[in-house]
Amino acid sequence: MFQRLAVLLRQPAAAPLLPALVRSLSSGCVNIAAPLNFWGGKRRTSKERSKGENVYEPATGRVLCMLEPCGPSDVDQAVEAAKSAYGHWSRMSGMERARVMIEAAHIIENRREEIAKMEVVNNGKSITEARLDVDSARLSLEYYAGLASSLAGQHVQLPGRSFAYTRREPLGVCVGIGAWNYPFQIAAWKSAPALACGNSMVFKPSPVTPVTAVLLAEIYAEAGAPEGLFNVVQGGQETGSLLCRHPDVAKVSFTGSVPTGQKIMEMASKGVKPVTLELGGKSPLLVFEDSDLENAVRGALMANFLSQGQVCSNGTRVFVQSDILPEFVEEVVKRTQAIEIGDPLLESTRMGPLVSRTHLDKVLTFVDQAKEEGAVVLCGGEPFVPSDPKLKGGYYMTPCVLANCRDDMTCVREEIFGPVMSVLSFDTEQEVLQRANDTALGLAAGVFTSDVKRAHRVVEHLKAGSCFINNYNITPVEVPFGGFKMSGIGRENGQVTIEYYSQLKTVYVEMGDVDSLF
Ligand code: NAD
Repeated sequence: MFQRLAVLLRQPAAAPLLPALVRSLSSGCVNIAAPLNFWGGKRRTSKERSKGENVYEPATGRVLCMLEPCGPSDVDQAVEAAKSAYGHWSRMSGMERARVMIEAAHIIENRREEIAKMEVVNNGKSITEARLDVDSARLSLEYYAGLASSLAGQHVQLPGRSFAYTRREPLGVCVGIGAWNYPFQIAAWKSAPALACGNSMVFKPSPVTPVTAVLLAEIYAEAGAPEGLFNVVQGGQETGSLLCRHPDVAKVSFTGSVPTGQKIMEMASKGVKPVTLELGGKSPLLVFEDSDLENAVRGALMANFLSQGQVCSNGTRVFVQSDILPEFVEEVVKRTQAIEIGDPLLESTRMGPLVSRTHLDKVLTFVDQAKEEGAVVLCGGEPFVPSDPKLKGGYYMTPCVLANCRDDMTCVREEIFGPVMSVLSFDTEQEVLQRANDTALGLAAGVFTSDVKRAHRVVEHLKAGSCFINNYNITPVEVPFGGFKMSGIGRENGQVTIEYYSQLKTVYVEMGDVDSLF
């Protein structure tokens, strides 16, 4: 997600140049080389010959490439490669692993522009945001490389000079399954802590955005990772299920929707495998009358319109204290209408297309339903056709602000996952806390106020895993991120994630005689 603000693409050396899109736009060409699977140290074609699916470029609606989903034999090979790499990697010292990860981070830095452009072409987010995602991926590798050498257990003294010690050991082959909104970043956020702990990984990106995960696989390989350490298999639900059910897989880390998360948990339960689930949200943002209005408005825009609103932690229920509601709304609408929509590769663009035609239609249907239920559209919520004729097949819409919202409306209860902000008014702190927590989800929450006591009191009562005071959607890799309630299990980022990719072994050491009862 969001770290603070701060050509021509290279073709992967080992990759065969198969049919792929070459898009000429404002910022040069993008060449997507296939195949997009990678295991055992190189790109692979699926052996299954299953029916392929088109992958689209959201900015133009053109077909980017064809995705061939991996089947059982591909998944077996990828897991086998990961098993083999695990044997070697898990025996290396933390320092040795860190060296490879730091080298991979350097390569990411050098290829920043190329990766960011690929992400834009496949996902549709603006180039400005895509660069920040690549930076966040690099920082994740650097951060966990830094922790790799200090993973350690405990020594516990026991009676009679006996003692016990604990070892923090890796789990084995971990599976990562990603959503389409942060394709490269999710692959890095999952693989960095996994690899730092000594695990290997098989990663499956979303079939909607398959293009950049394979770049990460090439980068790890180029950095000196053993063959099979980080593998990529492409496909959708079926390929994902094969991975989750695979007997040689020790853990599944998933980012995606709640219904899929529930299925993954069920599949993992058969093998009593641990899961990390980063799921959806319908997060509240509370704006009190004593807020710095300028910052509250900026926060509300960041909470709703990053990545075309396709962010799990977005604060889409914006509760504003009634005294400041008119001026807050006026300013939010003014700035929302000024958001530059268009070619996501242009530096000036702040909002690109949504990820797919289907998703755009779904978001627009939510807006229609909101109107039917009595919400008032203050701006946006319409399909948008950019003036550049190359973009006329793209999946654009105008960012939307809804007023007169009630807590029981569909737009306030369900995750829309698009650029739609619902504004609600409130009078008292107690009332807004009760309403903010009235949801089965609990990914994030935010509060704007200049009363420091109120800020901490409110945050203490908010039932959400990631809370923001006087800002929103900032996700430094050093800080744990994850949800309460149905928004997930476990955390990504921060030191605590080491616990989700390792297990403790306790070793008891007897220094005396066995005191037997028999
Ligand atoms: P999705 O659940 O449809 O798909 C996510 C991934 O799961 C894809 O790779 C998909 O192919 C795979 N999958 C689908 N069915 C599967 C199955 N039965 N077994 C194994 N894998 C399966 O989600 P999406 O539409 O890609 O992403 C949007 C959702 O993700 C939103 O709800 C959003 O809130 C959530 N999300 C959460 C976070 C977070 O960190 N909490 C981050 C990004 C997105």
